Amino acid sequence: MPRIYLDHNATTPLDPRVLDAMLPYLQSEPGNPSSLHAEGRAARRAVEDAREHVAAMLGKDAREVVFTSGATEANNLALTGMVPAGGRLAVSAVEHPSVLACVELLESRGAHAVRLGVDRDGLVSDAELETALDDGVDVVAVMAANNEVGTLQPWAAIAQQCHARGVALHVDAVQMPGKAPLAVPDFGEGTVSLSAHKIGGPKGVGALWVRTDTRVRAQIVGGGQERQRRAGTENVAAIVGMGAACRFVADEASARMSALRLSEEAFLAALRAHVPDVVRHGPRNADMRIPGTLNLRIPGVSGEPLLLGCDLEGLSLSLGSACSSGAVEPSHVLLAMGVNKVENLESFRVSLGWDTSPDALRAAAGIIADVASRNRRCP
Ligand code: PMP
Repeated sequence: MPRIYLDHNATTPLDPRVLDAMLPYLQSEPGNPSSLHAEGRAARRAVEDAREHVAAMLGKDAREVVFTSGATEANNLALTGMVPAGGRLAVSAVEHPSVLACVELLESRGAHAVRLGVDRDGLVSDAELETALDDGVDVVAVMAANNEVGTLQPWAAIAQQCHARGVALHVDAVQMPGKAPLAVPDFGEGTVSLSAHKIGGPKGVGALWVRTDTRVRAQIVGGGQERQRRAGTENVAAIVGMGAACRFVADEASARMSALRLSEEAFLAALRAHVPDVVRHGPRNADMRIPGTLNLRIPGVSGEPLLLGCDLEGLSLSLGSACSSGAVEPSHVLLAMGVNKVENLESFRVSLGWDTSPDALRAAAGIIADVASRNRRCP
């Protein structure tokens, strides 16, 4: 039986149509987009076409899109580039480590940061956001959809609140495309980060949407590429791949969303038939989360042996908790949501692909149930 891959929030397989779009730029198109000759102009055209596709997916202007090496760099560019020296920022407690570690770096350089708490569903506290805005922060960072539990933040409302106070907003939207409508709401100053490898594109390329008139200081300087915002010869093939991936997501968004919704229901029903006491973390209301992200817990079964046992049986999942330096640490997201340490270490994440087959879903539920029954501690 082929392996079953249910870790799409970590990364997705490369879409074969994306590979086809990339191949000419790996094989026969040698140009540097900054060169003036025919090969250079062809590469420039390819990069600019890709930029149009990314912008179209966001419903924005292509001149506002900056290509980067991924969302980690895009998040770093946004925060380091927007927070002034000694500035103040407010950041949700459930952000991806590429945001939280960057905030710590900024703090070590003299910035002041407040962490905004979340409720049991993972929704950012509006009261804490209001207080931070009253206190005069320069930048707010709140992700659009959480990678561990799938919670959707009300980013249109948050963008409006920030805009009304003249505060810049950074939104990590990596987990949104293909799972929730992505048209970027009205923004004042601000930025939105994306990553290609979460949507069928290649690893190592991402983008930062920078709203016109938003000042983002370049963090990588050199040849002045990307309108002086990110120097370095463009990774043409990867950028072409990202453009193609965004075009397919935009064309197929509603089909992908309904497929994910149906798959999620089918998988949960199959798992509950075997393991009736399985618990789901995150919003109960389906409108408050992206479909296809299931943060689960089977009482009495630790996440790590469950994950390793499933891996041996040919099923790839992820831990709900974080693995750092070989030790399993509780997830900062679940802790912020009030999930205690024991429950935290029992949690695991199943993240479906829009094209995961019903057979794979049924088989995965059976494998999880088998491995869990072998690893369950006696009550
Ligand atoms: N933000 C979120 C929400 C993510 O899920 C990820 C990927 N795990 C990143 C940022 C980092 O993206 P990349 O792998 O492109 O650096």
